[in-house]
Amino acid sequence: MAQHFLLSAESRALSLKDIYKGGEEKAYTEFRKLRWPSTDGEPVCPKCGCLDHYDIPTRRKFKCVGCHAQFSVTSGTMFASRKLSFTDLLAAICLFVNGSKGMSAVQFSRDLDVQYKTAFVLAHKLREALSAETATETLDGEVEIDGAYFGGHVRPENRKEDRIDRREKANQSDRRRVVVALRERGGRTLSFVRKSEAEGVQIARARMVAGAKLFADEASHWDVLEMQFETGRINHSVSYSEGHGKHTNMVESYFSRLRRMVGGQHHFVSHRYLYQYANHAAWLEDHRRRSNGGNAMALLGGALAHPVSRVWAGYWQRSV
Ligand SMILES: [Zn+2]
Repeated sequence: MAQHFLLSAESRALSLKDIYKGGEEKAYTEFRKLRWPSTDGEPVCPKCGCLDHYDIPTRRKFKCVGCHAQFSVTSGTMFASRKLSFTDLLAAICLFVNGSKGMSAVQFSRDLDVQYKTAFVLAHKLREALSAETATETLDGEVEIDGAYFGGHVRPENRKEDRIDRREKANQSDRRRVVVALRERGGRTLSFVRKSEAEGVQIARARMVAGAKLFADEASHWDVLEMQFETGRINHSVSYSEGHGKHTNMVESYFSRLRRMVGGQHHFVSHRYLYQYANHAAWLEDHRRRSNGGNAMALLGGALAHPVSRVWAGYWQRSV
């Protein structure tokens, strides 16, 4: 039997041992290469695009010859006001991509020996960076759509006579949300957080190209999509697959990862941030066959190309 990819040596391309053995200068070089890939790590002024600069080596900064602006490898990126060293940031990214079911902020803070708040914000910034990969992605070929409800748990009363029927809409929490996911077979997974699964109809119309084929379950709100797309429907009360590719197994396995992430790592997630976990699980699912080093460098490159996060910059200063 073929060896599972995650057990192979190719899947392990980066380790904490390598990162700390390499030291700060080597980590800094990686940051430079990924921030300025077109010049192989030579600084480009973020203000005017000038390539000429003076070095300020003691502070790992540069001064632009053209506009005299001072900048560093992280200026204008989500790591702009970083407090962690380059080795610690690289180690953080390594740990983050190694967590195939995600990473709780508590575990992250312990592994990195940083405050919980620092770990919480860093993890959310990384999730924002990886979400940017598919921000404008459209799906083609065979696409599966489905929704799954998360959050808003209503605890049953202790005594049977006090319990309510939690299946009724009136008895459900307003924090309950549905994650709608579209997954292109052999392509990307897109996730969206909404109040009802039926809102997925608009999403499918916006994010699927004409000519793509849609696979969905028997829920009636998907019916209208049959007018627009060639559609394969599967009745889950009868079978999970009818052969000939008529199933939604790929999108189901995405939900399986997200459920394990939410239940096993985070235990509780706020409906406000559910979109971040949903995107994180989609990214892990889509890149599950790439080595951890490949994932770490892709994420770091994405983070260094991503501007300062409006949601997460100064998050604790605003929210406490
Ligand atoms: Zn400049």
